[in-house]
Amino acid sequence: MNNILVIGAGGVSSVTVHKMAGLPDTFNNITLASRTLKKCKNIQTSVKNKFNIDINITELDADNVNDTVNLIKKINPFLVLNLALPYQDLNIMDACLITNTHYIDTANYEPKDEAKFEYKWQWDYKTRFEEKGLMALLGSGFDPGVTNVYTAYTKKHLLDNIDTLDILDCNDGDHGHPFATNFNPEINIREITSDSKHWENKEWKIGPALKNKISFEFPEIGHKNMYLMYHEELESLTKHFPEIQRARFWMTFGDSYLNHLEVLKNVGMTSINPIKYKGINIVPLQFLKNVLPDPGSLGKRTKGRTCIGTIITGTKDKSEKTFYTYNICDHEKCYKELGSQAISYTTGVPAMIGAMLMINKIWFKPGVWNIEQFDPDPFMDLLNKHGLPSKTIELNNKLNF
Ligand code: NDP
Repeated sequence: MNNILVIGAGGVSSVTVHKMAGLPDTFNNITLASRTLKKCKNIQTSVKNKFNIDINITELDADNVNDTVNLIKKINPFLVLNLALPYQDLNIMDACLITNTHYIDTANYEPKDEAKFEYKWQWDYKTRFEEKGLMALLGSGFDPGVTNVYTAYTKKHLLDNIDTLDILDCNDGDHGHPFATNFNPEINIREITSDSKHWENKEWKIGPALKNKISFEFPEIGHKNMYLMYHEELESLTKHFPEIQRARFWMTFGDSYLNHLEVLKNVGMTSINPIKYKGINIVPLQFLKNVLPDPGSLGKRTKGRTCIGTIITGTKDKSEKTFYTYNICDHEKCYKELGSQAISYTTGVPAMIGAMLMINKIWFKPGVWNIEQFDPDPFMDLLNKHGLPSKTIELNNKLNF
């Protein structure tokens, strides 16, 4: 019996749980726990309608380690898949250590009161997981996640050495709202309003948020403006591939999105510092999250595609080569299949795949691991099988920016 506990019932979780329910030979006992039971109920009903599979649901505030421990003890899962928010990562890892349970997530830990994310906090759990024979797999989404696997794949099959890595994340989807984010608005806005940061000549170069812009022609999509940003996989990839001379992350944004963001920032609505309003403390960004469209509701309105991938230059047999590996995902197709938009889909499918590889002990090693530390081949095969096929092309030249 492969018991699995999924925590969090948002857009990503909905995709993962549906995909798991469609694979009952691997995932034959799924419990979904989250803070708001109604969201679990909605996923449970949809899974029943689509696959005639029953999943268990329960309410859980994963900020409370004791409650999480009690729930884990009750259902005794093989692993906990954390699809709540990055704030819960350490509490859920603590609960896994107490109950001897394996762990997997899609985003690295971030403290609530500081817009800062880094792997150190979770890497510090390595010895404790190792000593208990437990495995934690970090960042099994798309970026981080698939982009890390693409990097490992390129190194394994196409290049002897990586010199430069560029991760390009393009979302050409249009949901018709003047302003909305494609995943949790609070986490998303904290990420994109932070300083840009990239790795060059053995050090981090810091720059202002969303100021370094390049127009790039994406396959099957065309020209889009993309902006230099910091993203968490740069930290693990430069550690695990120390030969990398330069590593950058780029994301596309439309002008209207950026104008809205700038106004919201200028009037203080993206701040995470609490203010007093009618005698109570509120965090402006958390308030903003509640007035913005729920990312989970965007699926039926979103048209267009995403194109996310890696452009990697290095040497093969002493000559320089550049490879672009990417996936194109269509928002409307995702909605038709599982009722979600492509951002939740491209994250939810790799989360399912990471769990599947752990359950089948194909990826299995005690300790705390980033996804690029495992053999990329089984993951690449499963991406092709489960809705996120990849394409690799060789470019004539390295990037000229
Ligand atoms: P949502 O906001 O849609 O969903 C988050 C879910 O977690 C909600 O159901 C929420 O409950 C629940 N939750 C929040 N706090 C707690 C808590 N204390 N205890 C239990 N449940 C809680 O987010 P997404 O689905 O868009 O994103 C999920 C995760 O995936 C995030 O960590 C995000 O950063 C990550 N992500 C990773 C990507 C990648 O490529 N690697 C890309 C996109 C997202 P409630 O409904 O009550 O708020």
